[in-house]
Amino acid sequence: ETSKLQNLKHSRTRTVDGVAIELFANIELPEDAIQAVELGAVGVGLFRSEFLFMDRNQALPDEDQQYEEYRRVIDLMHGLPVNIRTIDVGADKALGAGSDLSQTGTSPLGLRAIRWSLTEPEIFLTQLRAILRASAHGQARIMIPMLAHAKEINETFRLIKKAKQQLHQRGQSFNPNIQVGAMIEIPAAALTLPLFIHHFDFLSIGTNDLIQYTLAIDRADHAVAHLYDPLHPAILSLLYTIITQANAAKTPIAICGEMAGDPTLTKLLLAMGLTDFSMHFSQLLLVKREILKANVSELKTYLPDVLKAVEPEAQASALERLLA
Ligand code: PEP
Ligand code: MG
Repeated sequence: ETSKLQNLKHSRTRTVDGVAIELFANIELPEDAIQAVELGAVGVGLFRSEFLFMDRNQALPDEDQQYEEYRRVIDLMHGLPVNIRTIDVGADKALGAGSDLSQTGTSPLGLRAIRWSLTEPEIFLTQLRAILRASAHGQARIMIPMLAHAKEINETFRLIKKAKQQLHQRGQSFNPNIQVGAMIEIPAAALTLPLFIHHFDFLSIGTNDLIQYTLAIDRADHAVAHLYDPLHPAILSLLYTIITQANAAKTPIAICGEMAGDPTLTKLLLAMGLTDFSMHFSQLLLVKREILKANVSELKTYLPDVLKAVEPEAQASALERLLA
């Protein structure tokens, strides 16, 4: 069984009816990229850069240190794309105690991710310069977490432009056309998708947070964990709307939350029109096996009943038909 899975590593990822699917890896540390390549990932869909900042015994990494780490991932990926997500601290992820900035808020509704970065522009600019410098050596791409407001988007692009100018003045090389993507993980972003399609080169749905914020469930609070439901009809409806709009606009759309790596949900996501999946590398072959067995055009015929269902019994039987 395991050896059969291993045989899938370097086969093409295509459905029975010929739809090409791209499988990307989520990584937390640069060396995770070794496994990602080994398991046949076509890129890094999510590099959680905050893990470089969370070491309790270290000061925050400076520009050169960050550049080295990003460069390592770029080199390990041999020219494949790497989405470096800018620092996503706050809520359950605290900064290293070595910095005087370790007191970020602990509420998931508080100062986290891009909200925090925009209040610390020097730290954000440092990270942007490090990513830009790495982009001179491969396909580094910038990915922004937790955006909801147009003014956050504008401020982000202003700072990216400033980081480029700073490097230009120093005579340091970078890819001036570096791609910039947004995570769609706040319901408000999902509900104003045309704004994000207009501004960004690619999008990635963070279902972990999208579920948290749509269902008002703190993902770190065990007392409400039983209400955290990826199959809630509101979640399925949002996902379908996001994927359909992005596909129609030809803006690349991925899912990089846990749902993408759950092989029991692969057929459902394929039926919704998803073609880019990003997941922990341990899930890559399990999801690939489902894709190789799937017929997307057939799966799509079962989707309307799933999306219509709001009663649990109706949803369960519609899902059973799709996932059979
Ligand atoms: C997500 O929210 O789904 C996601 C991928 O980001 P994180 O889990 O790091 O918040
Ligand atoms: Mg998230």
